[in-house]
Amino acid sequence: MGIEEKLPSGILLSTVEGLAGYFRKASLWPATFGLACCAIEMMTSGAPRYDLSRFGMEVFRPSPRQADLMIVAGRVSNKMAPVLRQIYDQMAAPKWVLAMGVCASSGGMFNNYAIVQGVDHVVPVDMYLPGCPPRPEMLIDAILKLHDDIQHTKLGAHREAEVKEQEEAALTA
Ligand code: SF4
Repeated sequence: MGIEEKLPSGILLSTVEGLAGYFRKASLWPATFGLACCAIEMMTSGAPRYDLSRFGMEVFRPSPRQADLMIVAGRVSNKMAPVLRQIYDQMAAPKWVLAMGVCASSGGMFNNYAIVQGVDHVVPVDMYLPGCPPRPEMLIDAILKLHDDIQHTKLGAHREAEVKEQEEAALTA
């Protein structure tokens, strides 16, 4: 059935919030960086076989200021943690974080002094993806679930407290 038959009189009604949610989820741009072996699967997800660009995500951004999704692909060392936090802080709100693989989610098998036991000790995480490494299909599935969350999040509601805090800090700086 064509869209013309579904819509009475060809009129489509929506809300500004509904449209904003749709456009946000359909143009999510990940920051470009990988931390360990999981990053190989992340890169494969963007290549032609899996073709992440089908979901409006072909543009991995080299600048965090142009990215709104951080995919933490691999284990996070204590030395790298402040760098990762700085990249997160440089991303413009609203922004989302996906912990890819068991190492990023919980430290995985690296239960030692050098590795952060879950990236949620450093940045807030919106989606955890298990696996070692998760296959590209799993990453795409997690991203699509995140898309769904993003589309149905009210405008201004995502990490509202954190955004307010940053705005206040910018005003007093
Ligand atoms: Fe490497 Fe497995 Fe850890 Fe991913 S989860 S970074 S593949 S060891």
